[in-house]
Amino acid sequence: MILKYGLKVFPRLVKYKLAMWGLARPPHPLFFNFSITNKCQSKCTMCNIWKLYKEFPEKEKKELNLHEIEKVFKTMDPVFQLSICGGEPFLREDLDKICVLACKHLKPTVIHTPTNCLSPEKVEKLTLSIMRRIPKDVKFTIKLSLDGIGEKHDKIRGVEGNFDKLVDTYKRLAKIRVLHPNLYLDAGVTVSMSNLGDIKEITEYVEKEFRLDNFLHEIADTRAELFNVDTDKELQDEFEGVMGDLHVTPTGNDYEKVIGLLLDDVREQMKVNRKFSRFVQALRLVYYKRAEKVMVGGKRVVPCYAGISNSHLNPWGGMWLCNVQAFQKEMGNVRDFAFDFDKLWHSERANEMRKFVKSNQCHCPLVGQSFLDTVLSPKELTKVFYYYFFGAGNGKSSN
Ligand code: SF4
Repeated sequence: MILKYGLKVFPRLVKYKLAMWGLARPPHPLFFNFSITNKCQSKCTMCNIWKLYKEFPEKEKKELNLHEIEKVFKTMDPVFQLSICGGEPFLREDLDKICVLACKHLKPTVIHTPTNCLSPEKVEKLTLSIMRRIPKDVKFTIKLSLDGIGEKHDKIRGVEGNFDKLVDTYKRLAKIRVLHPNLYLDAGVTVSMSNLGDIKEITEYVEKEFRLDNFLHEIADTRAELFNVDTDKELQDEFEGVMGDLHVTPTGNDYEKVIGLLLDDVREQMKVNRKFSRFVQALRLVYYKRAEKVMVGGKRVVPCYAGISNSHLNPWGGMWLCNVQAFQKEMGNVRDFAFDFDKLWHSERANEMRKFVKSNQCHCPLVGQSFLDTVLSPKELTKVFYYYFFGAGNGKSSN
């Protein structure tokens, strides 16, 4: 498996290194995030996206349609992972068609998408359609967003009955997984100030009640994508009443505590049998350890390849370096480049944005970016293989 993936990504990794050193034009990204909609029925305490179309209903009409999406995909090289995000991705009735187009043009190894589980029937229907229509060697991973148990979950996500619907969604998807082994069921906690103390309880519940392929944790952070941060005046004015700091990110000391818990959890999960999941957990282990150093130390530990190995397309066609910088560092809009990804990717503005990343002015614990930054760092990658082959030990593994 590792050899197969290695052959797919290695030539591109070499080019990323050369691009970082200024010796080659940046090749297209291997990890491509695509927010297909900003619509969302949740009212999460750590995110303001759900307010967006209530305040600015006219902006909803500007979301890329299927025809425009295909034009962009057609001009892109194959990706390793397509992350379809939102908003709530399952609110787009054409999610299955988007996945089919992605398989045709982007040839992903993995398509990943989260869900807030508020529409179990819709999630079931679209997932079934996707599993019937995508190639069997494409892994489709769905992450159920889980931030607490019972009422605590409902309170954080702002919708009564959400937890019951999450359980319902899990049961429906677990049945589909039996028929389609390339469906992977994940759950993920966004660790914020609201649930810092509940991680153990959530983990115990999940282990007892669910059979997941991966149980993931992401640290809540301030991201312009989630409209939960103070940005420059222009953006503040454009999204007045929506963009604003929600103070969700745990402090450095809280990070240390929570990372200890997360590492214990990953070590347990490394005992699972599915090889793909084991590799993901090895990557996560390295990620958590580094995220702790970054957040406590307040600076990057390895170079960031945002805008080279990864990029993020928003629902309105804006191409971002990453979803932390988001609108603040937009590389361009595909609509201004006749939906030609390659032209946008090699535009003057895109190169300017890459200079910003290289200047080391920002740091973050962004999990999606972190994976390829890990793979592109020989030291960090060695740790991943060590954990993959020899396990993660008893908690005393070296940093
Ligand atoms: S370190 Fe990289 S991924 Fe993080 S905010 Fe900066 S550019 Fe984005």
